[in-house]
Amino acid sequence: MDKPALSPLQKKLPPRLARLEELAYNLWWSWHRASRDLFKQLDRTLWTTTRHNPVRILQEIPQESLHELAKDPIFLRDFDAVLMEMDKDTRGSPQWYSKNPIAYLSAEFGLHASLPIYSGGLGVLSGDHAKEASDMGLPFVAVGFLYEQGYFRQKLDPSGWQEAIYPPLNTAEVALRPAGNGNGDRHFVSVRVGERDIYLQIWEVLVGRTRLYLMDADVEQNAAWDRQLTARLYGGDREMRIQQEILLGIGSVQILRCLGIQPVVWHINEGHSAFMVLERAREFVGQGMSFEEAKAHVRAGTVFTTHTPVPAGHDTFHFALIDKYFNHFWPQLNLSREEFLKLGSYKTGHEETFNMTKLALEMAGRANAVSALHGEVSRKMWHNLWPDKPVNEVPIGHVTNGVHLASWTGEAMHRLYRRYISPDWLTHQDDPLLWARVEEIPDERLWEAHIYLKRKMFSTMRERAREARMQQATPPDQLLCSGIFLDPDALVIGFARRFATYKRANLIFRDIERLKALVHDRYRPVQIIFAGKAHPADDPGKLLLQQIYNIARSPEFGGRIAFVEDYDMHVSRYLIQGVDVWLNTPRKPMEASGTSGMKAALNGILNLSILDGWWAEAYNGRNGWAIDAGQTYEDPNLQDDADAAALYRVLEEQVVPLFYKRDRDDIPRGWVSMMKEAIRTVGPRFSTRRMVQEYLDEYYIPALKDVTALNGNVIP
Ligand SMILES: *Cc1c(COP(=O)(O)O)cnc(C)c1O
Repeated sequence: MDKPALSPLQKKLPPRLARLEELAYNLWWSWHRASRDLFKQLDRTLWTTTRHNPVRILQEIPQESLHELAKDPIFLRDFDAVLMEMDKDTRGSPQWYSKNPIAYLSAEFGLHASLPIYSGGLGVLSGDHAKEASDMGLPFVAVGFLYEQGYFRQKLDPSGWQEAIYPPLNTAEVALRPAGNGNGDRHFVSVRVGERDIYLQIWEVLVGRTRLYLMDADVEQNAAWDRQLTARLYGGDREMRIQQEILLGIGSVQILRCLGIQPVVWHINEGHSAFMVLERAREFVGQGMSFEEAKAHVRAGTVFTTHTPVPAGHDTFHFALIDKYFNHFWPQLNLSREEFLKLGSYKTGHEETFNMTKLALEMAGRANAVSALHGEVSRKMWHNLWPDKPVNEVPIGHVTNGVHLASWTGEAMHRLYRRYISPDWLTHQDDPLLWARVEEIPDERLWEAHIYLKRKMFSTMRERAREARMQQATPPDQLLCSGIFLDPDALVIGFARRFATYKRANLIFRDIERLKALVHDRYRPVQIIFAGKAHPADDPGKLLLQQIYNIARSPEFGGRIAFVEDYDMHVSRYLIQGVDVWLNTPRKPMEASGTSGMKAALNGILNLSILDGWWAEAYNGRNGWAIDAGQTYEDPNLQDDADAAALYRVLEEQVVPLFYKRDRDDIPRGWVSMMKEAIRTVGPRFSTRRMVQEYLDEYYIPALKDVTALNGNVIP
């Protein structure tokens, strides 16, 4: 047998450093301090200019530097220690059902900013879930899309209107490789989409011991039009969308089969991947089962998570599209057209369509919402599917979302937690007793760490403004809202999220004069940093963004309101570690969970939020603030008025005075004690450790038991 040819990196790396390649190609590095430090040590400038991308660092670093490092005993000592850690975390025996993993399907994965295959919260949640599954040693595979043009990069034109830029992803520059045997042979599957067969190349991303497979239709075998099918996330029309969802749902099953993986539990993360249940039913019917038997088998092993609290937000298709793309399919299930449509048909208003959430609820034995409140809302919303049950018995539970602590804790905070909580606090992160030791962090140290992270955020913003100024002549008013005039000692409120109108980014501007009084207070000024993208097809969202941008750059706010362009995981990391207050103003109950506030709290940033989603569970009166109008109104305008008034009141009476109440050492003791309460209460409960453990105990293991019971007590 021929030896596989050496990759360019293998040729470049000195033998002693050969395993740097392995390290760069497993995203494990991204949530381990020592390995991040290692890549930083390789070349600090490249670390910054590549936006923390080790694959590019290795490609771009001069060969001499590598040879120097290969002789540097201190570097080598750190390098070996990191490799040992990685081997411990990625090798060895997973748990007892390892041959039959949990398969997790999602339209987006937010793992690292260098791999732009996510748009927001849903993707970051999938990414965090995959990382945690690795940390916990679960047998877990994930499947999604490789979008060549990702979501989009945001650029604002001089009028503040959002432009979407789609820079093509260079697959050679990210931690991504063709799935295969390592000999350069590539794996393909072909999926029937309507009348055509679409070929998909399979890519592999290593996330610790989790494997993520990404499908890519941009291959020679496909017609030019079909090669676009996996180009963009949430782009195109309904017809494009149904084809993508066929690839995701049906293609995922075929990809795993092609790779010889036989999952026992299948987790559908949001309705986009729900066609998976049809393909699996087809397999069972192909083995000789009736459709009803097949359905029972599919249900036993399927878990479905819904994320959408409003009826209009659910993914639906007109029957004409279903006819077009599935008329060859229902005969294979031994179903008539009517029986097939019934699996997904659902009436919203007057219109009956094929609803992906309905399909998933019908075919998944277990379903959950993503916070306690969202659970209630979902049970009410889908009550008509179970008309005989009282609403509280509608079989949709909830697992409140969490965040991956190792990924979202700022360096400076991590050091404090190691020192004062426990050297291996991350290992024991689900122990609330451990977190009580937050009290032992001296106020001075905690405040110092916070100030450090705040300054780091400011310097990052200034650097971005400088670069933009160099590339194009930034007009003065745009410079005004770039953040360079922010006062690092004054209070900073952060608001970064999708510009969907229900998130009400403009709520704080409802009474401009009242806001101005806060912002321009001579002794106790308030500053705000905004960031976020509107969906490229969402004109109301873009208009909202433009309004805010124009307020931010107007001289009357004097540079105290900033807008950071191109919100992504990289920008998010700085903001959730560097502001003082994290503001969230959704129209209740439209925020299913929210996770950015958890990331903030973990770093001692105080939440100021409507009691919606996760915050309704977390808020205890001492770990942040609630914006509570005390009443709900039918008229959204009245609600906005009342909520805005409540927001100003909390800012004026509580937030601002507490922040500026300093002792002789210039430490805001009251504020710091609230920071500690936030860390202590949010850390153990709103982590992916707690979340994945709940999925395991209440969903995956019961599903596994049901599957084995159906199979005469053997794992299929
Ligand atoms: C965490 C995160 C989100 C989720 O934020 P919410 O608005 O709280 O849902 C979205 N986008 C990015 C880039 C994130 O890191």
